[in-house]
Amino acid sequence: MAADGATPTRRCILAGIAATLAVACSIYGSAAAEEKSAVSSDIIVTLLGTGGPEPTPARFGPATLVQAGGLNLLFDAGRGVTVRLYQLGISSGKGIDAVFLTHYHSDHIAGLPDLWMTGYMFGPFGSRAKPMRLWGPSDGTTALGGVARIAKGLAEAFSEDTRIRHADEHITTAATQIEVHDFQEDRVVFEEAGVKVTAFAVNHGDLIKPSVGYRIDYLARSVTISGDTKLDDNLIKHATGSDLLIHEVFAMSAQLAKLPQMKPVADHHTSPEEAGMVFSRAKPKLAAYSHILLLATEVRELVSRTQSTYQGPLEVGEDLMRFTIGERVVARKWHPELRKYSD
Ligand SMILES: [Zn+2]
Ligand SMILES: [Zn+2]
Repeated sequence: MAADGATPTRRCILAGIAATLAVACSIYGSAAAEEKSAVSSDIIVTLLGTGGPEPTPARFGPATLVQAGGLNLLFDAGRGVTVRLYQLGISSGKGIDAVFLTHYHSDHIAGLPDLWMTGYMFGPFGSRAKPMRLWGPSDGTTALGGVARIAKGLAEAFSEDTRIRHADEHITTAATQIEVHDFQEDRVVFEEAGVKVTAFAVNHGDLIKPSVGYRIDYLARSVTISGDTKLDDNLIKHATGSDLLIHEVFAMSAQLAKLPQMKPVADHHTSPEEAGMVFSRAKPKLAAYSHILLLATEVRELVSRTQSTYQGPLEVGEDLMRFTIGERVVARKWHPELRKYSD
């Protein structure tokens, strides 16, 4: 047994895995270049998942990466979030500084267990040495609300994995812990390295509380993420002055809209015409859709319906679409076959 607790054979295997992983990582992009944004006055926003609950490979679950001040902040952790991070060469562990949840619908947190556990594993896709830091809203009615309950549940549900990895791979206890930060009212919930994150209540329906959106400010730049919401004045108030406004949308065909059973779903979300009104009032430099729910309708229809109430710049988000917020807001699409962005 060596001084570090690993036998020579075991060390050799680990070294072999590390070499293989390093090669795998280089295939998927330059981890060193992508892992942390260069500290500049820009904010870089990447849509990791632009879908909702539907398990389609075309749009993964909602998740948005915001890079500013040398920090990587993740907003929601929908299905497939670790896969998208891996495509960018960003570790799900040491590559993420903080995770913020908008609410607790499954589509927004389905990828959280994977992010947490893949994050503490050995390898360039993990290697988080410290607890995962997790922010989320609480309604204040129970002692163990919001993210605290999730953290406790994850620890219990996956206690066999943490037990085995502590004993077998010497993963530290700190790496498998979750540091929770819950909050109840509209306020600044995070302020580090000049990056300020403000949470604000949105209206996702009477039974879906708490639900929040987030605004991220860094130097003179800002982005607002709506979370799931109906047309909401509080969102418009907080989003006003943002360079980039990322908004959810729900659109269905006129035929489907006549069905009474569709009404409860539509009542929890924002139609294209309503989203256009939000954009017209908040006046971002660029409006972008994510969390795009289209039922029996097309992107073309989504755009034309939005343009009936908003004539400004609009992007319909795609997975891995990236926005650079500088003097202007520039959008770039990801080319899956080339594994890189368009120029
Ligand atoms: Zn949702
Ligand atoms: Zn929701």
